[in-house]
This record gives sequence, C-alpha cells and structure tokens, in this order.
Amino acid sequence: MNPSHKTYDTIIVGAGIAGLTSAAYLASAGRTVLLVEKNKECGGLVNTLVRDGFRFDAGVRALLDAGIVFPMLKELGLRLEVVKSPVSLGIEKDILHIEDESGLAEYGALLRRLYPESPEDIRAVLAIIRRIMKDMDVLYGIENPMFKDVKRDLPFVFKTLLPWLPKFLFTVRKINRMNGPVEYYLEAAVKNSSLRDIISQHFFRNTPAFFALSYFSLYLDYVYPKGGMGKLAEALVQKTKDSGGDIRTEVKIIEVAAGRRLVKDQNGGEYAYDNLVWAADLKTFHRLVDTKGLPSRVRDAFERKKSEMLGRRGGDSVYTLFLEIDEPLETFKAISNGHFFYTPSKRGLGRVHREELDRLLHHWDEVDRGRILAWMDDFTKFNTYEISIPGLKDPDSVPPGQTGLIVSFLAEYDLFDKALKSGWVDEFNAELEARVLNVLGDSVYPMLKDKEIRRFSFSPLDIERRIGSSEGAITGWSFQDPVPVINKIQKAARSVLTPIPSIYQAGQWAYSPAGVPMSILTGKIATDKILKKKRRSSGNARKTA
Ligand SMILES: Cc1cc2nc3c(=O)[nH]c(=O)nc-3n(C[C@H](O)[C@H](O)[C@H](O)COP(=O)(O)OP(=O)(O)OC[C@H]3O[C@@H](n4cnc5c(N)ncnc54)[C@H](O)[C@@H]3O)c2cc1C
Repeated sequence: MNPSHKTYDTIIVGAGIAGLTSAAYLASAGRTVLLVEKNKECGGLVNTLVRDGFRFDAGVRALLDAGIVFPMLKELGLRLEVVKSPVSLGIEKDILHIEDESGLAEYGALLRRLYPESPEDIRAVLAIIRRIMKDMDVLYGIENPMFKDVKRDLPFVFKTLLPWLPKFLFTVRKINRMNGPVEYYLEAAVKNSSLRDIISQHFFRNTPAFFALSYFSLYLDYVYPKGGMGKLAEALVQKTKDSGGDIRTEVKIIEVAAGRRLVKDQNGGEYAYDNLVWAADLKTFHRLVDTKGLPSRVRDAFERKKSEMLGRRGGDSVYTLFLEIDEPLETFKAISNGHFFYTPSKRGLGRVHREELDRLLHHWDEVDRGRILAWMDDFTKFNTYEISIPGLKDPDSVPPGQTGLIVSFLAEYDLFDKALKSGWVDEFNAELEARVLNVLGDSVYPMLKDKEIRRFSFSPLDIERRIGSSEGAITGWSFQDPVPVINKIQKAARSVLTPIPSIYQAGQWAYSPAGVPMSILTGKIATDKILKKKRRSSGNARKTA
C-alpha cells in the first residue's frame, strides 16, 4: 500500500492527453487525484523531444480545435500560445499552399493538371469534399457544450446551442451514411485508380469515408503551440499540480484489483481509489483486471467485454523519420508550408501494393529478403508522406541555419514485428530510412543528399513500446467492424462506461475514430460522470442523515 494508506477519490492511469484532461478537471474540482504514468514524461502521443538543439514532435504535429481544445483550455483558465500552421499539398513537382477555402478550387486545378484524362472523376471528388466541408462547419461550428456551463450560460443555450442542435442531428444522420471505408466509397465515384490512391492513401485502411474526406476542411484549422506540441501536455500537468493533484511518473500499473479498488505498480506499490479512469490501452486494461470480489453479474459482463476486446486489433500505425539538416529554414520555406503532404509520384500505391504486402506477410518465412526490399522500393516511391517542419512554425525549434524535418507515413505493425522476430529489424529499419531519404532527395528535397547531420526513426514497435499502444496504433482501434467501443458521436457520453461501475475508460481507445479532440472529450466526459456521481451520493447521504 502507498505510505499514507490514502484512498484517492480518483486514480487515473495514463498521462496522455485524455488522462491529463481528466486529472486537471478533477483536481480543480477539489477531488483527491492521483495520475500515474509509466514513462518519465507526461503527454503520451502529445509530446515534444529535444535532440542536438532540434525540437521534434514525437507524436501529433499540429492541433485541431474541433470546438473542443480551446474551450477546454479556456474553461481551465489555461493559456497556450499558438500560431497558425498552414498546410501544403504536393504531387511530383506541383505544390499547392492552402490558405483558405479557395484552396479547394486550386486543388481541383492541380488534379486536372496531373490527371487531364479524368475531369469527371475530379469534379465528383471536389463535390464530395465541398459537401463535407459544409457538414464540418455545422459539426464544429460551435464550442462543444461539454465545456460550457450550460446551466449558467443561458445566452449560449438559447442563441447558439438550441438553434444548432437540429442542424447537428441532421448532419450526424448524413455522416452516419458515410461510415463505410473511404477506399470503397471513392471506388463508386472515381474510376481512375491512381487518383483514388492519391486522395486516400494517407488514411488508414477502412477509415470511415466522412472522417477521411473531412480532412481538407481540417487543413484550414491547424494550429501549432509555440515551443512544440508538448506545451499542451505541460499546461495540463501544471494545472493538475497547481490544483493539488498528485502526478507520479515512472509508475507502471501491472494489476487492477477491481474488487478491492486497488491498482498495483511494478515496484509492489498499491494505490486505493473510489473511482478509476483508465486512459491507456484497453487491451492491456482487460488483461490486468482481477475481478475477484466483484458481483457475478459484473464479472460476467466484464468477461464478455474482455473477450470482445482481446479479439480485436489496434488501428494502423506510422513510421516516422526524424532528420537534422544543415540547411537554413529559408530553403524549405521556398518549397512548402510547415505541414506538408507530399506524394513523389502521381501513380499511387495501388491495390497491387496492398495485395503484395498481404502475400509477403502471409509467406514471410518462405520469401527472401530481396523480394521484401523490392516491395519496399515501390512502397517508398509511390507513397504519400506527411512532413512536418517545426522550424517553419516556430523558428526557435532549430539551431540557427539548420532545419529539422519529421517525415512520416502509414506503416503496418505486422511487417516490423515479423522483421523483429526473424532477427533483422535494425537492418530493415535502416533500409527503409535510406529509401525514404533517396526518394525525397530525388524529388522535392535534393539538399537531403549531402546536408544530413543525423537521423533517427520510430517504428510501430517503438510506439507500442513507448506508450503501450497495442499494435502501435495511434488512434485506437482498427476500423475493421465490429469496433468494440462506441463510434457514434450522439452516443459519445456512454463511451467512457465499463462493466465495472467504479471504473471509467477515456482516450483514443474509448471512442472510435479518435485523435486529440476525442481523447480530450472522453477525458472530460469521464470526469463529469465522476463528479455527478459524487454529487448524487453526497446528496443521498445528506437525505439519509
Ligand atoms: C505521428 C502521429 C500523428 C498524429 N496525428 C494526429 C492528428 O493529426 N490529429 C489527431 O487528432 N490525432 C493525431 N494523432 C493521434 C493522437 O496523438 C492520439 O490519438 C492522442 O494523443 C491519444 O491520446 P490518449 O491520451 O488517448 O493516449 P496516449 O497518448 O496513448 O496516452 C496513454 C498514456 O498511458 C501511458 N500508459 C500506458 N500503459 C500504462 C500503464 N500500464 N501504467 C501507467 N501508464 C501507462 C502511456 O505511457 C501514455 O503516456 C497522431 C499520432 C501520431 C503518433
């Protein structure tokens, strides 16, 4: 037991953005809170690291408000200095800088230059994106009511919330009709397979069409915290501490004794709670729970959920290459904005690539390394890269005269896992890094060839190791049906419930599809449920007294 034998009102496991949100709110409401994090630093996938004087965002590279992030900061009285983070889109030599909504027409013109044979397809794609942009205006059009004091803010309720609600419900109905995989959705509208790939290949397999195609709208809203993404996590850490919350890092929870309301750490420490918020990987949670002492009805419900969860996969992962380059920011500024989606070849990866990958994974032990490397050649040549240049958003992120690049692309966890198990993962990573550098050096960044100072990379295995995310997933569950958590926005309030009444779940594993705003929202929903429960039980106690 911990030295004080103290029972916390709430223990939160996982100091990612969801756990931090929950901790900051509960602590500022005066609850006794313990936030435990297995790593040395808080933030999870919202994190900035410094190497050789270069600041790199290890996870998410920009913030989307989504009517959630800034209302949360405002409600907690936190200030986060942000700058706009405009996006560029490039295919081969054609690069477009998106400044406002007129960017969509320019995107259409870019596609027409590259695919002059497919004007009808391009028209169809633009019409879909335009429709979705209107829906997004409704969806994120107001500050999320979860972060408003609706009982007191009557002008907000009558002038904003009530007029918005019918539009919201109508839009949600439309969105639910676009829940199928983007690949198949586009197949119906776009005949040119290269064009289809270019639009969809930087989204996870089976990403719901609405989620994927809404991204054009989101590009207009990206912002970047001065000092790096980690500043968002730092602000919440500070708020939690200032409000009396207890944060312990390098504490890894290895057992949840649910019947006794205790969690146990790797060093034999035990911590007692009235409520637990699990804000980390849910497969891990279900493996760690000991149901002894719980009523049999709760135990059975938990076991059913557990077998459902353990049978599902984490979503797709990413591979990230971090580059320190001895070339000034101005050179890169002349090419793109600080957030850049770049595809070196208009051909696209195509189905053949996916099918070949599935074949390789299936017959891994029989295929020779040469064939795997040949696959890697095409994978790097025809892929789409998300490139972040922190120095173009905040010049203090780099040493004078130099530039840091963060280059990432979707990556299949199983591929790295197989390379690890067959004993050549380091070589595999080195081959991949070299190819990415070559492809970018031969296309958009010729200076990479002889100006590189240092490089390092994170594979899906590193993500799994660092934050304990099953299959290295970065937004929770795979989109393969059935998803074992709530995935309808109108039901989001229930996403935090588990079969065990004193335990709540929050973060990217609690709602699908997730990301920073949904992780924050679920952290807040879990908090509200705990505060409400507490109020209700003290009300009952008063009545009894
Ligand atoms: C490259 C990249 C790009 C991304 N881009 C975007 C984007 O554009 N937009 C967007 O919205 N999202 C994006 N995301 C996803 C987003 O970062 C995550 O979905 C979000 O940060 C998840 O937050 P979380 O709090 O739910 O979980 P996490 O960040 O995973 O936090 C979980 C925490 O729990 C800790 N933990 C795990 N197990 C234990 C244990 N047993 N005991 C104690 N602690 C434990 C972990 O160490 C971690 O700190 C991106 C992610 C990456 C990696």
